Amino acid sequence: MKVLPYAAALAAAAVLVPVAASAAWSSPATGASALPSVNMEATVKAAQIDPRRADDTLTPGAKSSVLLVEQALQAKQLLDAKWVDGYFGTTTVAAYTEYQKSLGYTGLDANGLPGKTSLTKLGAGRFTVTNVIGPGTRIDTGGGIIINTRTKDMLTAAETILGRTLTLSQGSYNPGGDPTSAGTHDGGGVVDVSVSGMTPAYRVTVARALRTVGFAAWVRDPSQGDWPYHIHAAAISDTDLSPQAQHQTGDYYLGKNGLANGAADDGPKVTPIRTWEEYQRQ
Ligand SMILES: [Zn+2]
Repeated sequence: MKVLPYAAALAAAAVLVPVAASAAWSSPATGASALPSVNMEATVKAAQIDPRRADDTLTPGAKSSVLLVEQALQAKQLLDAKWVDGYFGTTTVAAYTEYQKSLGYTGLDANGLPGKTSLTKLGAGRFTVTNVIGPGTRIDTGGGIIINTRTKDMLTAAETILGRTLTLSQGSYNPGGDPTSAGTHDGGGVVDVSVSGMTPAYRVTVARALRTVGFAAWVRDPSQGDWPYHIHAAAISDTDLSPQAQHQTGDYYLGKNGLANGAADDGPKVTPIRTWEEYQRQ
């Protein structure tokens, strides 16, 4: 270390002290608080929409969070630097799936959508997680129709809007239970609502209520598949969504009907599109 003349040392100290004081004021001393934060809601939303986009538009509000996730995946050698861009596209989903598998997860737990546990582990020493969301626990609504508590709360809110109860003809976590559903009911967040006894106009009213509380919901008719009239609804940002259902919620944001033909959304339009958490905050 170089020994400074007294005057020079005083000058150096005079410069250093305000900087140190300023740093102490601007940032709390604890390590966790000094880390940047990942908004889980925004990240999960981007992970549903971005893989379905035809262009490289970023999901609003998600860029800084997705970048932190991608940087962490890159650090684990799971994502090439060229994909660290704030866009949670198919390559990032695949990398996140590999990361989930590296934790020993299988099936829905390795669906490529960040869940609370995997995201928190990924952020160790790198970022904190805010706006945490989760599917809750699974419940049997009767007759073997299983849904999770997040979906249950959403259905209850839709019933409140409608002032009537809804009957499910299919629930979630039903792999292989209905070949016509193309895997959309394999995971959480997805239900079929019976429209028995409803007029055509009222079916649309029910779909609108479901959309209002955060479902990507469509009235399906017999011309579209090997099924009777029903309402198919996928809870946006349910972290248990099967990959096929993730595609449907992403397509919903992009104005499509969620079917393999990728046709335009046949309504009813509810704007802005809100997740369950956003609906509760408004
Ligand atoms: Zn369905």
